[in-house]
Amino acid sequence: MIITERAQRVRDRVMSTVKTDALLVSDLSNIRWLTGFTGSNGWVVLDPDGLTLITDGRYGQQAARQMAAARVDGEVLVGATSPLVMDHIANCCSRFPRVAFEAAHVTYAQHAQYAQAITSELVPATGIVEAERRVKDADEIERMAVACRIADRALADVIPLLTTGVSEAQVRNQLETRMRELGAIGPSYETIVATGPINAALPHHRPTSTPIEEGHTVIIDVGALVDGYHSDMTRTFIIGGPTTLQQELYDVVHTAQQAGLAAVAAGVSTKELDGVCRRIIEEAGYGDWFTHGTGHGVGLLIHEDPFINRAGDTILQVGDVVTVEPGVYHEGFGGIRIEDLVVVTSDGCHVLTKSPKDSPCLQLPPTT
Ligand code: ZN
Ligand code: ZN
Repeated sequence: MIITERAQRVRDRVMSTVKTDALLVSDLSNIRWLTGFTGSNGWVVLDPDGLTLITDGRYGQQAARQMAAARVDGEVLVGATSPLVMDHIANCCSRFPRVAFEAAHVTYAQHAQYAQAITSELVPATGIVEAERRVKDADEIERMAVACRIADRALADVIPLLTTGVSEAQVRNQLETRMRELGAIGPSYETIVATGPINAALPHHRPTSTPIEEGHTVIIDVGALVDGYHSDMTRTFIIGGPTTLQQELYDVVHTAQQAGLAAVAAGVSTKELDGVCRRIIEEAGYGDWFTHGTGHGVGLLIHEDPFINRAGDTILQVGDVVTVEPGVYHEGFGGIRIEDLVVVTSDGCHVLTKSPKDSPCLQLPPTT
């Protein structure tokens, strides 16, 4: 009955915030969280009487099966064509004078369709399901823990196989294949492998044919997808070396990341946590090289609330699952990032990603 409880929590939030009787949910991650449905086309109408999932002919059976498996008490309506799907949505909504819709997930064109078909007053609402989805339950945390174990294992298996001259793209391919072999549906996101003074200076570099060479820093950002839930971890390796600057900067980022992990706890603000990591990097003289926020929530999306950055004013709660990932980037130097995924607890955090980060130096044997 876990998921049915979710629907009730969302209903309560709709009543206490936008004060409408019904909510029209169109975001697929929100729909998955509410119903277990994983199809690519669907809407949920949540009202005081129940929950209705509306989809097209491709997904009718799947929707019924997945809702039953998730023990969701609700009805499935199937429309053979887009206008018939819209008719079902309109019929479900038009029984209520005011219906909230997910303003952040509806395009201008979709809103025009809603306005034409639905006779209710349409009330824009943002973040209602997301607010309930933010804190993870034990099942969700377990899926992310499994995803983290798969990424840890894949990284541990692939690193010893690397040889001089292997390309970023080859390392990405090996990691992603290994994660699938270990039971992941796939990678959580396109694995980042960024090497050398130019590519590693880009926090979200896309792997290319650039070879990994002596003297490079190599950022590997890897996560696995398990039953819809993501993991996220970054390790940086120094090939051969290290130079004095590489060692200094690795130590600075490592210290900042450890301090960040030590500062995570329920009740801490996201701004405060960002400041803990940022101050250490700034005091070392590299504040300008830390060009992104300290972290983000992870769940059914790889980037979701709460975001941990200078602008953030969110207070961490028990059950938030967030990354701590300070980094430095500079063209000509390359980059260093260390990232772990943690579950927030009342007095600290539980770190889900376990790959070692104390000895970044790696000797690559020549290709035989
Ligand atoms: Zn990452
Ligand atoms: Zn991340």
